[in-house]
Amino acid sequence: SIPLSFFSGIGYASKNGILIKGSNYLEALKDVDTVVFDKTGTLTKGVFNVTNINAVDISKQELLEYAAIAEVNSNHPIAKSILKTYGKAVDLDSIKNYEEIAAHGIRVQYNNEKILAGNEKLMKANNILYSEAKEVGTVVYVAVNGIYKGYVVISDEVKEDSKDAIRNLKNVGIKEVVMLTGDNKDVANKVASDLNIDTVYSSLLPNEKVEKVEEIYEGRNEKEKVAFVGDGINDAPVLARVDVGIAMGALGSDAAIEAADVVLMTDEPNKIYKAIEISKKTNKIVW
Ligand code: ADP
Ligand code: MG
Repeated sequence: SIPLSFFSGIGYASKNGILIKGSNYLEALKDVDTVVFDKTGTLTKGVFNVTNINAVDISKQELLEYAAIAEVNSNHPIAKSILKTYGKAVDLDSIKNYEEIAAHGIRVQYNNEKILAGNEKLMKANNILYSEAKEVGTVVYVAVNGIYKGYVVISDEVKEDSKDAIRNLKNVGIKEVVMLTGDNKDVANKVASDLNIDTVYSSLLPNEKVEKVEEIYEGRNEKEKVAFVGDGINDAPVLARVDVGIAMGALGSDAAIEAADVVLMTDEPNKIYKAIEISKKTNKIVW
């Protein structure tokens, strides 16, 4: 039978904006010793600003237009940010053969132009001769009909409470904090060092995020649980794999809310230590 205190723990958590989908997850939370975070939209705001545009043989405005055409049908935070900066309407009827390639970018046809917009992986996979951006940032390279046209550098900010969130996790006994991201190494290392994250893996494809989590599970016993925190964009398989999958509920995708065991209503990373603390106290205190 389930002790009454589990129900009160879940109720208390929900008053704090933490929805726990079952008493088994509340119980598992107290045994979590490793917390794995996704980066974009989880530790960072997921709201990118354009910080530089480098156009080759066309104007910066034309380059931005190509990027906007490619991104107009994507829900990725990168897409929303590029469309916001572009600030104009895109002729949706001229778009054909739209394809979003996870952790790479977009391939699309616009009238008779084939546009690619995405990271270095996308350029390499399509044999585009591109020149590498020098500045630290998330880079969206653009190619049209196989010809490199330049890049847009965008940058995201860490959430106000992310640093406190990591510190508080250490204070409630978490041994290791890990960050996984599909973004590039320079951006990943900058965020990890700003937030005092122990271990960071970058340039990961969605299936490679699952593989990293499998590695974390190697040599563990049943009592050493792993939690993952994500927004469901390119990380829903990881949310489903771990002992406690925690999703950002406000900006996160429906897939995240579905795949998760715990949903944070306010998207604040600093709620995670709170959930663990509630779990640890639930057996001792009746709220
Ligand atoms: P994260 O792991 O940080 O949440 P994702 O797995 O969603 O990031 O994406 C990884 C990388 O793939 C991005 O940093 C970007 O380089 C590229 N990417 C993904 N989606 C898009 C898109 N719609 N447009 C351009 N690039 C994209
Ligand atoms: Mg993500």
